[in-house]
Amino acid sequence: MTILDVRNLVVDIPSGDGTIHAVRDVSFQVREGEFFGVVGESGSGKSVMVQSIMGLVPRARISGSVKFRDRELLGISPAELRGVRGRHISMIFQDPLSSLHPQYTVGWQIVEQIRAHEPVSHAAAKARAIELLKKVQIPDAASRFDAYPHQFSGGMRQRVMIAMALSLGPGLIIADEPTTALDSTVQAQILDLLGEMRKEFGATVLMISHDLGVLSRVADRVMVMYGGQMMEVGASQEVLGAPAHPYTAGLLRSSSFNREPGTPLISIGGRPPSLLSPPAGCVFRERCPDAMDICGTAPPMRLYSNGIEAACWLEHEPSEPAAPTVPSDVRTVESGPESHIVQTENLKLAFSQRRGPERVVLDGITLDVRRGETLGLVGESGCGKTTLARAIAGLIEPTSGTVHFDGSPVSGLSRAGWREMRRRVQVVFQDPFGSLNPKRRVGSIIGDPFRIHGIASGAERRARVGELMELVGLSPEHYNRFPSQFSGGQRQRIGIARALALNPELVILDEPVSALDVSIQAQVLNLLDELQRTLGLTYLFISHDLAVVRHVCDRIAVMENGRIIELGDSDDIYQNPSQPFTKRLLAAASPGTAGGRPLRQHGSVFPVGPLVARPEEPVRDSGMKVTR
Ligand code: SF4
Repeated sequence: MTILDVRNLVVDIPSGDGTIHAVRDVSFQVREGEFFGVVGESGSGKSVMVQSIMGLVPRARISGSVKFRDRELLGISPAELRGVRGRHISMIFQDPLSSLHPQYTVGWQIVEQIRAHEPVSHAAAKARAIELLKKVQIPDAASRFDAYPHQFSGGMRQRVMIAMALSLGPGLIIADEPTTALDSTVQAQILDLLGEMRKEFGATVLMISHDLGVLSRVADRVMVMYGGQMMEVGASQEVLGAPAHPYTAGLLRSSSFNREPGTPLISIGGRPPSLLSPPAGCVFRERCPDAMDICGTAPPMRLYSNGIEAACWLEHEPSEPAAPTVPSDVRTVESGPESHIVQTENLKLAFSQRRGPERVVLDGITLDVRRGETLGLVGESGCGKTTLARAIAGLIEPTSGTVHFDGSPVSGLSRAGWREMRRRVQVVFQDPFGSLNPKRRVGSIIGDPFRIHGIASGAERRARVGELMELVGLSPEHYNRFPSQFSGGQRQRIGIARALALNPELVILDEPVSALDVSIQAQVLNLLDELQRTLGLTYLFISHDLAVVRHVCDRIAVMENGRIIELGDSDDIYQNPSQPFTKRLLAAASPGTAGGRPLRQHGSVFPVGPLVARPEEPVRDSGMKVTR
């Protein structure tokens, strides 16, 4: 039985530059009780699509039909829609920072959500809220009920959002990148939790994710979006194992989740189309390695023998592009005798708390980072990874212990020493929203390092900023845009461009690709790899994504409760982890199953087979034109 029936959905959003054609004639059905995944790059229209379904896109012009359990949602009054939101359809948003009110405790916010829809006492709502906080693994839930959002880590804030979305037992849960900010063990717990809710309450889950590994693990069916249109839909095992559409095949080749460690990721060349003036014909044509003359005409959705429906003229396996090669003019850095760029000695950091004993965040860290290597730092949220990185960069003063950078102590640097240190060490922060000034234009933000260090000005600075934007997959035409006009993934790319501006020696990458789409992840990881080889960069790579860490890191340090419990070569750690905690992390991160079934690797089961005629479906046009 169908719970959500979307037909011919079109979403146009007026903007200063013209009309953004965000969603273009998308039709799909979500079945009662299933886990339905939506995947695609930033700007493919997936978030706008679900937000417009819920009436959350201001000024959007929406047409088509969206039925929830046979009830048309487009065109109903805002009050009626509010009754549906939360009670029957709940949403888990991508960005918990902007979704939780900073001035209210997390417990109060959950209680308010419950009492806005149900006539229950405060005590009963509080008991349910604490129960939900326990379910989403908030430690010491009863006492954290009175905590404020800023007292939680990013991962814990997202868990609170999930508790809030689950609080009313909705029929449909729409989750927009709900696990992107979480480390692998918590990610697995949250996915399990969503699975439990589905079984316990018969809830249906529609989950948007750019993480193919996550979707392969949980989704029954997957829909792939690109340029505001649906490219492919079918059982996740088929779509992620033997895709019919070249775009899906490209996404799979870009992803580290199903590729051998050390093999280069193959990104999809080019950039997604402008939604201000989408191209005629197939929207993927500019980037498609299989494009043909007929692709100038928009392809219809066609049904393939493995049950996949895809919008493509191709009738055979999508072709495999060549692996990227390093340009011949690349200067290779000679590897000299092993030297350390960073050394920490018994580093300790503790915060005093208003109530209770002091909180130890770093508990005697002795670590070296070798020049030219990529050292991975992995562990759960709150284990101290980011704090350690900040102490290494000199952004936090440790309680005791020392940090040496290139042989010199970081504490007690002169003003000139700090300025030099700022050039040599760059940080790409985890939170692209919090690290960009919303009132400044992106070109000016990326050009800051040039301005501050007096390296380039005027037209030269603008040209160099344009090059950096190109490097990280941003259009230089967007030089004058503000951060709010970019998606989450694009904002992270802005941060990376800014960090690379001064050719630093050590780059601390704090979850640098966790917010990016896999195709962009591949571009950025390949770019980081190339820069490292040509410029001799050293990376300290913090990530909860163990597939990415294994792919890019030479050595890995595993952190737990402020300590390094295991350190070694990546292959050794992955093949012979000695600590139970490391084994748990690895077990939680194991991808490669779709709904408990083994996944086929892309390319192993082809051809897709002959096309079968798609049964004629009566296309219902509600004729409704709704303007919000
Ligand atoms: Fe490529 Fe043509 Fe298929 Fe579009 S229709 S994805 S251009 S082969």
